[in-house]
Amino acid sequence: MMNTEQLTEYNREYQKRWRQERPEIFRAICRRSYLKHRDRILRDARKKRSEVKLAVLKHYGKEKATCVHCGFDDVKALSIDHIDGGGTQHAKILGVSGMGFYRWLQKHNYPSGYQTLCMNCQWIKKCDKKETRIGRMLI
Ligand SMILES: [Zn+2]
Repeated sequence: MMNTEQLTEYNREYQKRWRQERPEIFRAICRRSYLKHRDRILRDARKKRSEVKLAVLKHYGKEKATCVHCGFDDVKALSIDHIDGGGTQHAKILGVSGMGFYRWLQKHNYPSGYQTLCMNCQWIKKCDKKETRIGRMLI
């Protein structure tokens, strides 16, 4: 006689084995389920992405989703800035981009060295630090 925990583990293993032995059937079931619930799945994923982005922008925007430099607050034009530069290199090392980077920041408990900036302030900072071709031409 199995207790509830053992039964749960047995069922989990049985289902895992069943999926591994019948990958085509399992894939077809997943596909059918996805198509049936596609709208809800996409809506939930979109909602989750915006929650993650908002939480990260608030954390690095001093508890508000605003640019720490100019105060701009439209989330659509806010992003995370590497204070000491090197964001592109860092993203390559991590192997993430876009939302992957926001999730990485959350997962690593919001490490220091980042700030929320609007795209205008990001671009101005890049030009001032001559991190862009245009920035080098504006000397
Ligand atoms: Zn700004």
